[in-house]
Amino acid sequence: MLRIAIQKSGRLSEESLKLIKECGISFINSSLKLKTESTNFPLEILYLRDDDIPGYVADGVADIGIVGENVLVEEGMQQLAVESLGFSKCRLSLAVPKADDYSDISDLQGKNIATSYPNLLQAYLDERGVQAHIHTISGSVEIAPSIGLADAICDIVSSGSTLISNGLKEVERVFKSQAVLIANQNLSMEKRAILDKLLFRIHAVQRAQR
Ligand code: ATP
Ligand code: ZN
Repeated sequence: MLRIAIQKSGRLSEESLKLIKECGISFINSSLKLKTESTNFPLEILYLRDDDIPGYVADGVADIGIVGENVLVEEGMQQLAVESLGFSKCRLSLAVPKADDYSDISDLQGKNIATSYPNLLQAYLDERGVQAHIHTISGSVEIAPSIGLADAICDIVSSGSTLISNGLKEVERVFKSQAVLIANQNLSMEKRAILDKLLFRIHAVQRAQR
């Protein structure tokens, strides 16, 4: 039996379940439960918060998982990545108040930037030789400038409409993300064989979609 961790409820949940179903794997769908077992494939699904998924897979609590590359790389767990899945595409971007003059990244020198992704942001700023004060907050990052908490933000963007409705404009793309399949690095031969079967089906689904 292979155990997969997916997001319990959020932007990855629906597409993660859809992919599993498209692989012909059936299970009783109950969003109230913490885990469910497939009725026709040796797979158990564990429903977790997305941030916890890389850690649980690294520790072997789950064997594999589906998570955003943004979270995976932020947590320094990119070595677990097996396969990009092509959904939940988004980007991590820097944004400033719409009325600000902004010409390039050096404008952020010495500024206060709010984000939930301090490591990805720090790496981006370091590469460009910019020193800024990074304030790590866990949610509602986009309101930080309007309440005077920060001069800029670094947050997940897909269409950009959340930025616009908060009076912000996107000025730098820090990281491009999509959902990725991750796996524990010490799977038993039995589990590895189940994962290979699953990957074979995932590839068939992906081919059919192209
Ligand atoms: P949890 O309660 O599980 O911690 P969360 O609020 O941290 O959830 P979500 O907002 O559901 O997370 O986002 C999960 C992942 O989906 C993100 O890490 C990112 O990879 C992706 N994502 C986030 N926003 C979007 C978006 N607007 N469009 C597409 N994908 C997104
Ligand atoms: Zn989360």
